[in-house]
Amino acid sequence: MEALRPGSESCDLLVIGGGPAGAAAAITAARAGVHVLLLEKAAYPRHKVCGEFVSGESVQLLNSLLANALETRSLLSHVPRISGVRLFLDGRTVNVPVDPPAVSLARFDMDAALWRAATSAGVDARSDTTVNSVQGQGPFHIQIATGEILARATINTTGRWSNLTAKKTAVLPNGAAPKWIGLKAHFAETSPSPTTDLYFFDGGYCGMQPVGLGDEPATSRIVVCTIVRADVATRLEDVFLLEPRLQERSRNWKLLSEPVSTAPLIFRQPNPEKDGVLLAGDAAGFVDPFVGDGISLALRSGALAAESLLTFFRRQATLEEAAAQYRRGYEERLLPIFQTSSLLRRMLTLPLAVRRPLLRVMETFPAVTKLMVKNTR
Ligand SMILES: Cc1cc2nc3c(=O)[nH]c(=O)nc-3n(C[C@H](O)[C@H](O)[C@H](O)COP(=O)(O)OP(=O)(O)OC[C@H]3O[C@@H](n4cnc5c(N)ncnc54)[C@H](O)[C@@H]3O)c2cc1C
Repeated sequence: MEALRPGSESCDLLVIGGGPAGAAAAITAARAGVHVLLLEKAAYPRHKVCGEFVSGESVQLLNSLLANALETRSLLSHVPRISGVRLFLDGRTVNVPVDPPAVSLARFDMDAALWRAATSAGVDARSDTTVNSVQGQGPFHIQIATGEILARATINTTGRWSNLTAKKTAVLPNGAAPKWIGLKAHFAETSPSPTTDLYFFDGGYCGMQPVGLGDEPATSRIVVCTIVRADVATRLEDVFLLEPRLQERSRNWKLLSEPVSTAPLIFRQPNPEKDGVLLAGDAAGFVDPFVGDGISLALRSGALAAESLLTFFRRQATLEEAAAQYRRGYEERLLPIFQTSSLLRRMLTLPLAVRRPLLRVMETFPAVTKLMVKNTR
């Protein structure tokens, strides 16, 4: 390790970004005895733009990351289980079973619980700390407002769009480059259906499902989240007018949380490593939220990145070899999910005339629909 400059500090592993990917990476490494520093530019709890659908496949991993029985119980014991998705499209409704059932979990609660779990695992977790730059290819010199940190390895989990994530050209359906944005808020609805409901319209879709918050049971709160082209709508209330059944349903909703928004939504080729820095979660690749797998991918890739680095920390491999091992694992286990979900996204955003026969196939052969969704897991 290089000599430290006066005023700087050091760690084995620096994880940048405290979302699900960053927490999963930090917890996994800390439990293996690695000295981990986790830096997050904002603070928890807070609302994030997200449909809050956590796929069943990742619940077990989430459980094991939280570890503390009390924390897990209070977070997961009374969350709504989602065993079906209803697609509202072109006046039709297609039912898709969700097996294993997903859970609906407010990001306000989940991200904060993971952050606490990281601290309990021995991670030095610091909020309100932005990483301004990363230099070197191992060891890494990391600049924050108060000085420099020297890290033997670095995992970038700063999400889909950050000062550290390369800004590349958008790859969007039909070769066009419209600007897509995400909007989300919680609303009050009486006796919501225990399903995830997705309403499609020209220029995007809007999803919703029951959700709890803190100790409040999920009996009359729903999370509503939309992906919409910015030239079509920029406010939730305008989105609700774009589909007749959604317009009718939303008539009596009452706003429970300030709407949050995010832009732009860019789908690019996933890349799990750059210049020796491992990338996990959305920083490695952004999967279409339609398949509800972003959180799962974030947890899995974060844990995988940390596991891959253990050989390096135990001096059994170089950083380059550990990074190559992560790339292989990512490409084998996670990359196929992006391919199927991007196909699904393209299908559902096709022009109406092409979409109609496709929808008929989905209605007539639910097994085909189930298989398509299964392949996004
Ligand atoms: C509209 C929409 C709906 C979605 N719905 C779902 C859904 O229903 N189910 C699902 O599974 N997924 C969904 N997703 C995807 C899901 O939200 C993401 O995949 C998930 O949040 C990725 O986690 P992450 O840890 O990679 O990134 P994030 O959760 O974005 O966390 C990154 C963190 O890094 C921090 N950060 C950024 N830059 C810096 C810096 N320089 N220094 C320090 N910290 C920094 C940020 O503050 C942030 O907290 C949705 C996404 C969108 C946009």
